[in-house]
Amino acid sequence: MASKYQAPRGTFDVLPGNAHARARVERAAAEIFSRAGYEPIATPVFEDTDLFERGVGRSTDIVRKEMFTFEDKGGRSITLRPEGTAPICRAYLEHGMHKLAQPVKLSYAGPFFRHERPQAGRYRQFHQIGAEAIGTDSPFADAEAIMLLADLLAELGVPGVELRLGSLGSPVARRAYLEELKAHLRANEGELSKDVRERIDLNPLRAFDSDDEGTQAVMAGAPTIVERLDGEDAEHFAEVRALLDTAGIAYEIDPTLVRGLDYYTRTIFSFVCEGLGAQSEVGGGGRYDGLIEQLGGPATPAVGWAAGIERILLALEEDEETAGRDAFLAVADEGQRRRALALASELRHAGLAVEVDLAGRSLKGQLKHADRVGARRVVILESEGGVQLRDMESGEQRPTDAAHLLEELGGAGR
Ligand code: ATP
Ligand code: MG
Repeated sequence: MASKYQAPRGTFDVLPGNAHARARVERAAAEIFSRAGYEPIATPVFEDTDLFERGVGRSTDIVRKEMFTFEDKGGRSITLRPEGTAPICRAYLEHGMHKLAQPVKLSYAGPFFRHERPQAGRYRQFHQIGAEAIGTDSPFADAEAIMLLADLLAELGVPGVELRLGSLGSPVARRAYLEELKAHLRANEGELSKDVRERIDLNPLRAFDSDDEGTQAVMAGAPTIVERLDGEDAEHFAEVRALLDTAGIAYEIDPTLVRGLDYYTRTIFSFVCEGLGAQSEVGGGGRYDGLIEQLGGPATPAVGWAAGIERILLALEEDEETAGRDAFLAVADEGQRRRALALASELRHAGLAVEVDLAGRSLKGQLKHADRVGARRVVILESEGGVQLRDMESGEQRPTDAAHLLEELGGAGR
């Protein structure tokens, strides 16, 4: 039936069929975060627009084109959060977390909003899980961040994952490099796409990310920051690599790697999954040593990442999943319906997943429905207290005693 209303463009409903696979991803992430001591944090889905304009930098696409920004009734500019790092840094400062033992290790999961052209793996409301270690510049934190995401993707069984690793150096080194890069871009201005040409001064690094052929040819001959790293930046990057080597995590150095948000310094990384086509990144992140200072806090180095739940699910190709039921309570005798509901409740208290007919079906209809919901057994209540137990896999059916039902269904000792 065509309905009068549809979900807004670029959004989707999570229906019961895919909710289970989604919950599995969130559970796996929560487990990994908790085992490594990354405590959960939740921030509002909207923030003052300033937080993102300042935190994200005005030059990125995310700020220029992708934000859902509106004015609230008090005339304040509000933005639906496009990412989690700036809000978490805001909360870190607002709640004085810089006074706690550092680093403060945090994790999150929730919806994010970007006004993008919708396509497979790219939505206007999507969901991320992520982790941040705030208050340390140690390369161990970078390596640990990467290891957490690698663990998560491995544990979920995401196929064909590759890790790309790069470094943007510290702001000082980066400034010198950026001048060199801008000079290269200006020298080849004629061959660049309009978009890149207009942003030579604003965000020259993004040129590496362009899908324009002319720009790509120019960038093939461009100097890379990884070649220019020296001193502490080079040491930091070498240590991150050594730590990953020790942990047995494979990676590929990508000297042209850039990210969509421009607050990154030093380490950046991206986990891609070739099977995903154009939207190949399942997750990524890096170090953002300057962000908290930009937000008005003390100089506080930090590192983190975010992964897209929808991209992970696409890569896993297992959206549809049914939960299964321990038992379905059917009635052969209409007089048993009330008893069936009470018994279902009792069995649920004991921890069993039990369904009961709510639609007045015939016994045949109830058995069919039990099969549909994935019930392993059907308990059939007969007149005068008789109980039959039917195994849905073998089709075997035998009488049993109502008093032993719980043990029969495996509830008590579970
Ligand atoms: P992309 O290059 O794919 O646009 P990005 O650089 O914008 O990614 P981040 O801002 O780092 O990505 O977000 C982290 C993760 O969130 C991405 O790796 C991706 O899995 C997911 N993601 C980002 N934007 C979207 C979107 N519009 N729809 C679904 N998932 C998204
Ligand atoms: Mg993007």
